[in-house]
Amino acid sequence: MDEQTARREIVRVGKLMYERSYVVSSDGNISVRLDDGRIVATPTQVSKGRMTEEMLAVTDSDGKPLTDKRASSELAMHLLIYREREDARAVCHAHPPHGSAFAVAGLAIDQPILSEVILTLGCVPLAEYGTPSTDELTDAMRPLVKHHNALLMANHGAVAYGADVWQAFDRLETLEHTAKIAILSRALGGARNLPPDSIEKLIDIREKAGYLDERGRCQSCGYLHETKIVCPTGERATVNTSSATKTSTNGAGKIFLSRDELIELLVEAARTQKID
Ligand SMILES: [Zn+2]
Repeated sequence: MDEQTARREIVRVGKLMYERSYVVSSDGNISVRLDDGRIVATPTQVSKGRMTEEMLAVTDSDGKPLTDKRASSELAMHLLIYREREDARAVCHAHPPHGSAFAVAGLAIDQPILSEVILTLGCVPLAEYGTPSTDELTDAMRPLVKHHNALLMANHGAVAYGADVWQAFDRLETLEHTAKIAILSRALGGARNLPPDSIEKLIDIREKAGYLDERGRCQSCGYLHETKIVCPTGERATVNTSSATKTSTNGAGKIFLSRDELIELLVEAARTQKID
């Protein structure tokens, strides 16, 4: 892609992200990797709703500025993705409310609840918390980037990437839509998960149609363990959510509590009974 087209498309996607409330104020950032390896990125401290083409920064593949415009302080996250994923040509980072609610609650979007999502995106893991614009954040994301096309970052937000800026944006949109449906379904009594044989059929379809290749078999989704799907390289992404997920529910309506939380609940129940 040439620089002028990249500038135009980044501005269009920025407006969409702002209008859909995926970002507020000067939150979020977008970048595109050009054919010659240079990166066009959103500037620091500019609202994505009021951004114009000439405001964008251009850097080399290591993030070194090539113009007088300063790129977003979170460019390191984008550079990590471009290094880990040869196929990634664009990155969109935002704080969409429903997806970010999962990230704040310490939950991944990893239940098999929507057929289309298994076909086009797969699961979205939760990277442990890392201070934005530091190595902490990129270190937490690194093990997950290879097999997933979108990630949640604990107590922060979401990032999605793809072959162009529209695919990256579409993935971010799917992430947010899935999180919203998951939250709404909980209000209706909880989501019902798809059974393993249905998941296997969907994975077969997505590979034949070219929506996701075999790398998707190595995603961190717990439900892949329940199927006959095997990660061909044997290097399935795993997520350490022990510090982030103290209490979580899955779509089958099971509740997981730590020993201390269970004791606290029982004590509370006993105390309430006495008062009554
Ligand atoms: Zn952010």
